[in-house]
Amino acid sequence: MGSLTLSTIRKSYSAVEVLKGIDLEVADGEFVVFVGPSGCGKSTLLRIIAGLDDATSGEVLIDGVSVDAVPSAKRGIAMVFQSYALYPHLKVRDNMGLGLKQAGAKAEDIRARVSEASAMLSLDDYLDRRPAELSGGQRQRVAIGRAIVRHPKLFLFDEPLSNLDAALRVNTRLEIARLHRELKATMIYVTHDQVEAMTLADKIVVLNKGRVEQIGSPMDLYNHPANLFVAGFIGSPKMNFIEADRLGRKDAATIGVRPEHITVDFESGEWKGKVLHAEHLGADTILYLDTERAGFISVRLFGEQRYDADDIVYATPDPARIYAFDGDGAVIGGPAAAPAPKADVQS
Ligand code: ADP
Ligand code: MG
Repeated sequence: MGSLTLSTIRKSYSAVEVLKGIDLEVADGEFVVFVGPSGCGKSTLLRIIAGLDDATSGEVLIDGVSVDAVPSAKRGIAMVFQSYALYPHLKVRDNMGLGLKQAGAKAEDIRARVSEASAMLSLDDYLDRRPAELSGGQRQRVAIGRAIVRHPKLFLFDEPLSNLDAALRVNTRLEIARLHRELKATMIYVTHDQVEAMTLADKIVVLNKGRVEQIGSPMDLYNHPANLFVAGFIGSPKMNFIEADRLGRKDAATIGVRPEHITVDFESGEWKGKVLHAEHLGADTILYLDTERAGFISVRLFGEQRYDADDIVYATPDPARIYAFDGDGAVIGGPAAAPAPKADVQS
C-alpha cells in the first residue's frame, strides 16, 4: 500500500556530499518525521523520495519495488511544501482538483474527491474563493487538500507549518495528526522543530550533517538518546551538559541531565549556586543557575515558584536520570545504559 525503503542513499553536489548513506524502513501507514538542524539534508532526502531529484547512489523502493526509473508523477506520492504553491488565479476547488484533471480524471470523480477532501479539512465554505482571499492557515489546508484528492500511497510534507503563526501551527499540527488517523496513510514529514517531531511522529529519524544519528519513537529518543547530539536536540530547554571532570567522574567525558530532572532548594542540595535569571511562565518556571560544581545549568520547575535572580540555591539532579557520554559523544551510562544498536532500531 505505501511502504518505503531507502537503501544507502548518497547525494553529492559537485565535491560536497550532503547525504552520506541513509538507510531507512517506513512501514505502511506509519508517520515518520525527519528532524534535524537547517542544512542537514532533510529536503534533499525528501526530494529524492519524491523523484524530484536523483540520488548519486543508493536505491528508493516503494512497496518493495525500485522506483529509480519511475518519474515523480508516477510514484503515487503527493508533496506539501512550506510555500503553499497554489495557483493564484484558480478557485480553491480548481486548485485542489488540478492534479486529477491533468491526470485525465473524469469531472464527476474530481468533484467527488474534492468534496471529500474539503469536508475533511473544513474548507466547504471556501471552495469558490481564490488563494488571495484566504488566510495562511486556510491556504495550507488547500495545499494539503490538493495532496489528499490524489489518494497517494505516500504523503511527503516539507516544513508545512513554518509560515504559520504559533497558534495556527498548533491547530494545523493537530489537524495533520487527525488526518493521519483517518486516512491511515503513510506520511513522511520534514521539520527542524523537535516539538513538531515529538508530537506527530510514530518514528523520528534524527539527521545531522547528512547522516542518521538515531531512529526511534519520540519517547525512545527522549529517554534513551544514543549520543550527545540527540540528547541535546530533543527536549526544551535542552539537556545540561557538564564536564565529567568537574564532578570528579573519571568514567566519562560529559555528564548530561535534563532541566526537568533537577530539583532546587533554599536550604541544602548537591550543587550550590546563584540564580542568574528566572523565567516565570506560569505553567513552568525556568531557572538559569551558575553553580560552583556543575557550572551553568538550567532547571525546569513545575508551576509558579518563588525563586528569583540573585537567590542562592542548591540544585540536585535525580540520580536515576543522569546520562554519561564518552569522548566521542556516545552514551555510556544512565537510563540509556544499553541503547539499542542503530541497526536493530531501524529494522
Ligand atoms: P535542510 O532541508 O535539512 O535544511 P537541504 O536538504 O535543503 O537541507 O540541504 C542540504 C545541504 O545541501 C545544504 O548544505 C545545502 O546548501 C546543499 N544543497 C541543497 N541543494 C543544493 C543544490 N541544488 N546545489 C548545491 N548544494 C545544495
Ligand atoms: Mg529544507
